[in-house]
Amino acid sequence: MKIAILSGKGGTGKTTVSTNLSWILSKKTTVQLLDADVEEPNDHIFFDVSFNQEESVDILLPVVDNNACTRCGECSRNCQFGAISVFASGAMVFESLCHGCGVCKMVCPVGAITERPKSIGKIKLGTVANNSNFKFGMGILNIGEPSGVRIIRQLKKHIDENSDIVIIDSQPGTSCPVVETLRNIDFAILVTEPTTFGLHDLSLAADLVKEMGIPTGIIVNRDSQKTKIIDNFAQKEKIPILMKIPFDRKIAKLYSEGKIFSEFLPKYQQEFLSVYRKIKELIK
Ligand code: SF4
Ligand code: SF4
Repeated sequence: MKIAILSGKGGTGKTTVSTNLSWILSKKTTVQLLDADVEEPNDHIFFDVSFNQEESVDILLPVVDNNACTRCGECSRNCQFGAISVFASGAMVFESLCHGCGVCKMVCPVGAITERPKSIGKIKLGTVANNSNFKFGMGILNIGEPSGVRIIRQLKKHIDENSDIVIIDSQPGTSCPVVETLRNIDFAILVTEPTTFGLHDLSLAADLVKEMGIPTGIIVNRDSQKTKIIDNFAQKEKIPILMKIPFDRKIAKLYSEGKIFSEFLPKYQQEFLSVYRKIKELIK
């Protein structure tokens, strides 16, 4: 089963849910946790991971032969990212904007564009120490690169089909990297917090998973029981609430120390296991 952990915005508790759920499930079965939050992956901080595989993720950057270029402007007109412009002196590629989509090369009528590989980040794979049930992978996007979609796509090629459960910690938001993460996923957990901002971003994420036809449930983090704002939304949208993690200084302290809080507060272990049971029921 492949489960994606999403949140409409950063800092809502996606990492908390991904790491705690993976950790407790790895005590019962085989699990792979993939950190696809490639702009700031941090799940590995919570585990002692032995990395044994690393690979570069490359895109193909266009290279223009300005002796052959006729300055027709086709490449610039067809580039959706404004990454190539044509001047009297020839065509110029703006590397930091280029997504390596290959369209300019395809449309150039005189074959003036070739390509060269450029690394935009890497993938690291390994196993959590002293737990052969628990595999781990992460994608890392280089600083300044415009999109992590390629990294996520390459990371997902390393999904371990021998693991019973694969948990993918997504980037926050609803942009292209999140859509890439959600492809071929069985269930999406939407992590939110009971605030007006939390609700706003939750509703965007809920729209996305609905559009993609993925079964979903909500985990409310930092729940204070003072407001029913998320309960009301969940009821209206008919999305089940799988768990509520209370606003608790002990949890916050353990998180800040890079610890799996349910390891130290065992009453939450059953709750995370029950989240998985509920997911299985919902998928049925
Ligand atoms: S490869 Fe794609 S993004 Fe890059 S310059 Fe060409 S058309 Fe634009
Ligand atoms: S499409 Fe080819 S020929 Fe036309 S401006 Fe671009 S590089 Fe030059």
